[in-house]
Amino acid sequence: MKAYLFDKFGIENLIMKEIGEPEAKEGYVRVKPILAGINPLDYNVAAGKVIYGVHPMPHIPGSEILAVVDRDGKKFRKGDRVLIYNRIYDGTCNFCLSGHEYLCNNGGIYGVVSNGGFAEALSIREENLFKVPGNISDEVAVSLPIAALTPYHALKEARVGAGQSLLVYGASGNTGIFATQLGNLMGLEVYAVSSKGYLRDFGAGETFSMEKLPENFKADIVINSLGGELFSKSIDHVQKMGKLITFGVLSGRECTLDLGKIYTSELNIIGSTGGSRSDMREIINIASERGLKVKIDKIFQFDKLKDALKYFEKPREGRVLIKF
Ligand SMILES: [Zn+2]
Repeated sequence: MKAYLFDKFGIENLIMKEIGEPEAKEGYVRVKPILAGINPLDYNVAAGKVIYGVHPMPHIPGSEILAVVDRDGKKFRKGDRVLIYNRIYDGTCNFCLSGHEYLCNNGGIYGVVSNGGFAEALSIREENLFKVPGNISDEVAVSLPIAALTPYHALKEARVGAGQSLLVYGASGNTGIFATQLGNLMGLEVYAVSSKGYLRDFGAGETFSMEKLPENFKADIVINSLGGELFSKSIDHVQKMGKLITFGVLSGRECTLDLGKIYTSELNIIGSTGGSRSDMREIINIASERGLKVKIDKIFQFDKLKDALKYFEKPREGRVLIKF
């Protein structure tokens, strides 16, 4: 079977290669990817810019995968459409035992600390698979494990309440579109920092381009997954006793923070990453019962993965997906 892998970092070093079939193991089931989402994570893994250690080398990237079960397992039947919960965890450490398996002491992200899903067949632990209800489209389904789960978990961590206001930076990005929709579904008043008018169709009450965001505008919850100096500036838009959420550093890992602003207004800074299996089940139910939408910019065939990653470097109008 064919897989995309690299033996040294750099998008240009990705090659499609014939490799052995995935190993059949007890508790694992063989699946075939149907569709994959490209996220900054996948790009950074291949480009060697990821915060986490990449393992093994040569490495197959790919962390957001919709697949179909290829052989009957214990819980799954051939033909089931499934999502891969993309955290590897031991199930025994304190974090796993308290339902925070995404923080496992001996784990990490599928496709980062393990080979990922850019291959024709995969062997996946059954407990990492979630069956997708028939009324969720492939395009929405493939967006649930990262693009939707990340802001969903973050909003839960922030214990948001109906009627509060939410300001989303990078609202037209993968997670931003879902932060906007989920905020709306949770009864928040959503404001999007983006020049894209289509965010209103995703539940934004108002959109501001970065330059037009009024200086005195304040929200109860601010999501800023961009980071860098923009993160310190966004503190000025958090209401007293409000919350500033970070789950990404697209524009930079470091910034200068005015601590005075944080304590005098009793602000909370919340770090969030991925989500639990329980969150994963909830986001699938939300997509099925309440409906989630996604905007697709371009779908590339599997053998054009390198082109897709290069395309991902430029500004986009929605998601970039890989079709197997
Ligand atoms: Zn653990």
